[in-house]
Amino acid sequence: MTSVFTRIVRGELPAFKLYEDDLTLAFLDINPAARGHTLVIAKPELPGLLDLPPELVAATALTTQRVARAIVAALQPDGFNIIQNNGAAAGQVVFHFHVHIIPRWDGDRSVKLWRPG
Ligand code: IMP
Repeated sequence: MTSVFTRIVRGELPAFKLYEDDLTLAFLDINPAARGHTLVIAKPELPGLLDLPPELVAATALTTQRVARAIVAALQPDGFNIIQNNGAAAGQVVFHFHVHIIPRWDGDRSVKLWRPG
């Protein structure tokens, strides 16, 4: 089955894209936990971290750092969370590898960081 993120990669679904290269893509989460909540995906449709070959582990980590740096520069949060869910038990809903970048501000403790399943 084709994932919603593959459809974004193919241009079949819209997304607000922040960064793209041959192996990775970053775009805003459609249901953000905080302003600037961004997803970094590996373009190949692989479900989780343990499925990724080393070059995709490296590429997604580099894109995550690059995009987090840009978000910090643009939105000036006080911090940010990096979250990466593997398996339904861990709250993964889209089975196409992705990393969440969630900007955080002092006093925003009400941000619901994870909504399982
Ligand atoms: P997961 O629980 O780690 O699998 O997170 C999946 C994330 O994908 C959720 O935060 C959703 O809001 C997000 N999402 C699902 N569909 C879309 C979309 O079409 N565009 C952007 N984000 C999406």
